[in-house]
Amino acid sequence: MNVSEVAVDVPVPDHPDQSIPLWNVPRVGFIRDYDVLVVGAGFAGAVIAERLASQAGKRVLVCDRRPHIAGNAYDHHDEAGILVHKYGPHIFHTNAARVVAYLSQFTEWHPYSHRVLAQVDGKLLPMPISRATVNELYGLDLRDDEACAAYFASVAEPVSHVRTSEDIVVSKVGRDLYEKFVRNYTRKQWGLDPSELDSSVLARIAPRTNEDVRYFTDSFQAMPRDGFTAMFSRMLAHPNITVRLGSDFRELVDVVPHRTLVYTGPIDEFFGLRFGKLPYRSLEFRHETLPVERAQPVAVVNYPNDYDYTRRTEFKYLTGQAHPMTSVVYEFPRAEGDPYYPVPRPENTSTYRKYKELADQTPDTFFAGRLATYRYLDMHQVVGQALAVFQDIVETPVGQPASSLVAR
Ligand code: FAD
Ligand code: UDP
Repeated sequence: MNVSEVAVDVPVPDHPDQSIPLWNVPRVGFIRDYDVLVVGAGFAGAVIAERLASQAGKRVLVCDRRPHIAGNAYDHHDEAGILVHKYGPHIFHTNAARVVAYLSQFTEWHPYSHRVLAQVDGKLLPMPISRATVNELYGLDLRDDEACAAYFASVAEPVSHVRTSEDIVVSKVGRDLYEKFVRNYTRKQWGLDPSELDSSVLARIAPRTNEDVRYFTDSFQAMPRDGFTAMFSRMLAHPNITVRLGSDFRELVDVVPHRTLVYTGPIDEFFGLRFGKLPYRSLEFRHETLPVERAQPVAVVNYPNDYDYTRRTEFKYLTGQAHPMTSVVYEFPRAEGDPYYPVPRPENTSTYRKYKELADQTPDTFFAGRLATYRYLDMHQVVGQALAVFQDIVETPVGQPASSLVAR
């Protein structure tokens, strides 16, 4: 295959309309061999490609089997002209100043504090569970943190060793809140009972004794002003970077000369499933545009105990876009389909470790991101990891395996 016939370059975006896939414009005069082949144009791949191109002067080919950049963070304008997230709601939040500083080179920000309500007992109640939640649910009048802490202590179940997602919830807020808000949502989302999932899953939405109704408590909460895809376009617009979309890396790896490989897809797939398939939970997304200006009171409404979907998101809350209509997405969890979530439980972690050992012995090859490191990482964590992997790539001698990812 002649790569110059198929490669595409990323031009500098100069047009705010993201329905035009600007990065997909063919150009002549391609680089025919590369220092680095990056598999995946999501956060992990794009950050590493950008750093290698701009800081290390490397010539980089980024490929993705999807027809667009930005991975799961991809957003675009739908038929009504509303900016939506194809793969479900993505809200940026972090405490890492370094990550904000890095991304701010490629975007301005629209401040946004995420809000979620859960439909329980016919009411819409704040998630994560907080003093506001229990006051509204039970008609209580807990006035301060101490009163709420005392209430939680009175209903909590003692757990000697917190191991699972059931443990971490019942040991803090007891069984009734667990049954109403967590058990069924989690069974629907993961196809597993919370008692079969690591505590880290529910640690993401720890209960609070205060009345903070924001979903995240991080110091920085904002959305890229022009959307994620626009931000990625700017990251990948470096002249040393070529992007090839709609291409599985297996079609390219043997025909495109490169010295280093960066892989951000599923790690089990990379090694031909030789230790068995790692489970990844999937989702089906149903997008709808409704002829009303507002569909619900906050960006996300969770349905722990009703319907086959877990939640419904109304995008205009996230983006701040004004429009006479509104677009929403429903998420239906699936066992099969595109891999979205690694499933955190001990047997999967031990299978992953076998793949990781192989990865650590593979010369000139680096693994990064949520699928390749089999970790339930948010976007800011992937950016932080990718910046560290970039450093590893620069520091690892040619012909050696990646050796310093163990601590990440
Ligand atoms: P991905 O974005 O998955 O990118 C990997 C890319 O590699 C994909 O585009 C894939 O097509 C490509 N690829 C894989 N295999 C191959 C191959 N063989 N050849 C070529 N290309 C290949 N994070 C937050 O911080 N806040 C949120 O609100 C949030 N909400 C989320 C909601 C949902 C429904 C999901 C699924 C995730 C959410 N996340 C959120 C997590 C966020 O999506 C990830 O942290 C981030 O996108 C991971 O980036 P990545 O580059 O590791 O992976
Ligand atoms: N969860 C729950 N009830 C809710 C919301 C979340 O039990 O109303 C659990 C569920 O297991 C979910 C996990 O908490 O997978 C983490 O929630 P988060 O909102 O972080 O999930 P994500 O946005 O990554 O899908």
